[in-house]
Amino acid sequence: MLDRTTALQTYQTFIDGRWTDAVSGKTFQTFDPYTGAPWALIPECDKADVDRAVDAAHRAFESGAWPKMTPTARGKIMRRIAELIEQHAEHLGEVEVRDNGKLISEMVAQTKYMPQWFYYYAGLADKIHGSVMSVDRPDHFTYILREPVGVCAFITPWNSPLMLATWKLAPALAAGCTVVIKPSEFTSASLLEFMKLVIAESGLPPGVVNVVTGYGPVVGEPLVTHPKVAKVAFTGGSATGARVNELAAKTFKKVSLELGGKSPNIVFDDCILDDAISGAISGIFAATGQTCIAGSRLLLQETIHDQFVEKLVAMAKAARLGDPALAETQVGPVTTPPQYQKILSYIDIAKQEGAKCVLGGGAAGSDEGGGQYFVKPTIFTGVNNKMRIAQEEVFGPVLSVIKFKDEEEAVAIANDIAYGLGAGVWTQSVRRAHTMASRIKAGTVWVNTYRAVSFLMPFGGYKASGLGRENGAEAIDGYLQSKSVWINNGAGGGNPFIMKTAS
Ligand code: NAD
Repeated sequence: MLDRTTALQTYQTFIDGRWTDAVSGKTFQTFDPYTGAPWALIPECDKADVDRAVDAAHRAFESGAWPKMTPTARGKIMRRIAELIEQHAEHLGEVEVRDNGKLISEMVAQTKYMPQWFYYYAGLADKIHGSVMSVDRPDHFTYILREPVGVCAFITPWNSPLMLATWKLAPALAAGCTVVIKPSEFTSASLLEFMKLVIAESGLPPGVVNVVTGYGPVVGEPLVTHPKVAKVAFTGGSATGARVNELAAKTFKKVSLELGGKSPNIVFDDCILDDAISGAISGIFAATGQTCIAGSRLLLQETIHDQFVEKLVAMAKAARLGDPALAETQVGPVTTPPQYQKILSYIDIAKQEGAKCVLGGGAAGSDEGGGQYFVKPTIFTGVNNKMRIAQEEVFGPVLSVIKFKDEEEAVAIANDIAYGLGAGVWTQSVRRAHTMASRIKAGTVWVNTYRAVSFLMPFGGYKASGLGRENGAEAIDGYLQSKSVWINNGAGGGNPFIMKTAS
């Protein structure tokens, strides 16, 4: 059970295998979104700490124990990481709830699932291999090596801090990279607990995983521009992602970006209605709508629109708001004060645009189970896909309902958006399921389910939702680069003034 009575805790950060304060000695407070009270002090790092952390990661990559370790040995340490997460999953889930206010059942389910990433990529560590090629020069022996890219910088958001760090860390360690992680300034504590209980006890050599805590531009920008960083893996908003991409491009870093979304959840009149209603709720009100894959545009076929909305409103109205640490709570607080203001401002925008508010439409007070940063589950009907409430990411419990006539129109509306992260389709027709899955421009399409993820399934976005993929076997490619080796076993010579192509 989450204990909220403890005194203000003071954390240090973890660089080069040691616990340390920020060079400046400064700290900042982290808040419990449910009570609004500060509960921990986090080191306020800056460029000096980034330099320390990247230097440590660079040393660990170039010399020391890590580069000498066999892939089998790396895999063994990763399995130890998985076991340690299993041991501490409940506690890590509770720290997540304290910091980001998401439901205990969801956060503990995430921390209990995280070991699978380390087991899976541990298994892949000794299956990374190059290949021998037969080029058109019989006197040459040619092969391709697959090498780790080097020091990786990870920047993560506040909505699923440990899970999203895991998606990066597990393939990067399997590939043999070293890492510096910058968590969100709103939710740094869980990563520091993870470093203490898992990484520091795992047998990883010093400097392989380092953490720099602090504010986005102050810590993030020196990290993504640091000359010794070879790869940046970022999860966060699309505007920040664009800035990170631009900065990283100046020193030609590899970049992967997991960004925002405005996902269509499309319901056809041949669906199983109760399943689709539950899927619509899960798409927008789970995690208080604070998920990149939120099904925030509900596309309803006009033939079932009124009946669907009536049932959806009834179900959403009954949602229990309250303390995210209690098992019975269904909708918790918004994680950060700026996010709370942003959600309320989008509710105003939707009203000004002429959308019809059929549920919620504002803050939820304590008489409704809410409190300081609670927003009522909100549903707007009569939304036109051109409206800002249909086009822009709210990242909160605010649903836009849009009517469509047929499959053709559903596809057109679904794809008429800058984003392309996820999509839901509700139908009993096998033909329609496959057709929609192929025509929707999104990294993930769920049919008759929503918000399912696995370490085996690639995850990422089309268009403004990102670059590259996390999870699945292909994620490891983002942490490797190929080297072509040519060995001439024949005589030298030939015309030195022309390129050596086929002999
Ligand atoms: P954000 O973009 O504000 O911050 C993300 C991270 O970037 C934080 O650690 C922040 O400190 C850092 N940052 C901020 N400014 C920076 C800068 N100038 N340079 C470098 N780093 C900087 O996002 P957020 O509010 O923490 O998270 C919500 C967003 O994340 C939503 O848009 C959501 O859709 C997205 N998200 C995407 C995925 C995905 O997998 N596609 C998953 C979760 C969240």
